[in-house]
Amino acid sequence: TVIEIEKLGYSYGEGWILNDLSLKIEQGDFVAVIGPNGAGKSTLLRLLAGILKPAQGRIAIFGQDRENFTAWDKIGYVPQNPARQHRAFPISVREVVSLGRLSGGSMFQHYTHEDKAAVDDIIERFSLKELAHRKIGELSGGQQQRVAIARALATDPAVIYFDEPTSALDAEWTDDMHELLRGVAAQGTTMVVVTHALDFARSVSDRVVFMEAGRVVETGDTETFFTSPKTARTR
Ligand code: ADP
Ligand code: MG
Repeated sequence: TVIEIEKLGYSYGEGWILNDLSLKIEQGDFVAVIGPNGAGKSTLLRLLAGILKPAQGRIAIFGQDRENFTAWDKIGYVPQNPARQHRAFPISVREVVSLGRLSGGSMFQHYTHEDKAAVDDIIERFSLKELAHRKIGELSGGQQQRVAIARALATDPAVIYFDEPTSALDAEWTDDMHELLRGVAAQGTTMVVVTHALDFARSVSDRVVFMEAGRVVETGDTETFFTSPKTARTR
């Protein structure tokens, strides 16, 4: 089991955003987290990525309580709209991807030969070679999404969380994203993708977690979920 969540509760100040949420994610799972706006999907990812702390309940990562967990370089996280965060940040694509190798370190930490080789490898795999020396802010939304994912993968994470990876993309790019994510999953990486795009969720994932008002309402095999009469009612 990669992630085990028990009775998780979270509040930003007033009112429970996540409430009594329990969920297990197994090694090699490809999970799509779906549900209406405001259901708490992004909040759940922030808790899983270690950015927020649970107010109630427990999160275990690789069998370890979150508070004692230290191997954060094994966890990849691609927040929503990475493009927006990069706009005013005048560094190159290669530098952005390289930052992925500095887990919690400073920007001025030295890169090893191994780091450089890993960055070369990922730049190659994501067809970013021709963009490597361009400034990140000059790229299209789709290209920036690709760079953000490359950066998250640069540490070779065992599990990776994506928040709305297709939100900035047109149809053609969405197909590319599909290929890209399936490719990462094929290497054995555990995948958790938050998306409001139900067609995308259905085609890319193996398992669906349906959230509503801070809880998991339903979870199950993707094809079964989308063909069940109950789902038809919810939609
Ligand atoms: P989803 O990703 O499913 O749309 P979110 O996790 O973004 O849901 O938001 C869940 C609820 O938490 C919403 O009501 C939202 O307004 C609230 N919320 C999200 N982020 C913050 C924040 N930083 N401060 C206060 N409230 C927030
Ligand atoms: Mg969200």
